[in-house]
Amino acid sequence: MKALTITYLVKNGVYVNLTNRCPCSCVFCLRQNGDGVAGSDSLWLEREPTLEEVCRSLDQWNLDERDEVVFCGYGEPTERLDVLLDVARYIRSKSGVKIRVNTNGLADLIWKEPTARKLEGLVDAVSISLNASDKETYFKLTRSKFGIESYDAMLRYAQDCVKYVPSVVMTIVDVVTSKEEQERCRRICEERGLKLRIRPYEK
Ligand code: SF4
Repeated sequence: MKALTITYLVKNGVYVNLTNRCPCSCVFCLRQNGDGVAGSDSLWLEREPTLEEVCRSLDQWNLDERDEVVFCGYGEPTERLDVLLDVARYIRSKSGVKIRVNTNGLADLIWKEPTARKLEGLVDAVSISLNASDKETYFKLTRSKFGIESYDAMLRYAQDCVKYVPSVVMTIVDVVTSKEEQERCRRICEERGLKLRIRPYEK
């Protein structure tokens, strides 16, 4: 079922659902398993919300009482990078709430240019899906439309983000990675000065 769920609550965070577009088709994507997350209505958008609609939707929450605003939803938020940045500016103009982006880290491939610097001053945290310790496994899991080179581009983007964003965390999903693979991922992050979080699979 499609709707226009633009913002929704997860714990004490306000989540923003900008788009359903994504260059990946991950085997574990929540989009394969249902319509909503954490009790929200359908996150399948009947159309993409305008900047104005996103700001009005955010106005319904007292952001100063929330832990963070998270760009997430059913899709890759950097597909709408310009809108994301404008929304972040709007949030900054009215609240000191932390702003996080959950991303697959493929923004530079989507936009065909380095994009991490655009987050400077507007985004406090970026959470990037590492997914695997090598490009072949990554490609098998994500089925990225950009192909086998996606993995290296994602890692480059992550290292770029460290220069412009205070907190950068790489994530892998526990149930789709073995202990050995988790260890390899940990080493890859350490070598690059990145933090790793092994997160539970959310249905
Ligand atoms: S990158 Fe995220 S939204 Fe896109 S297919 Fe993978 S899990 Fe789903």
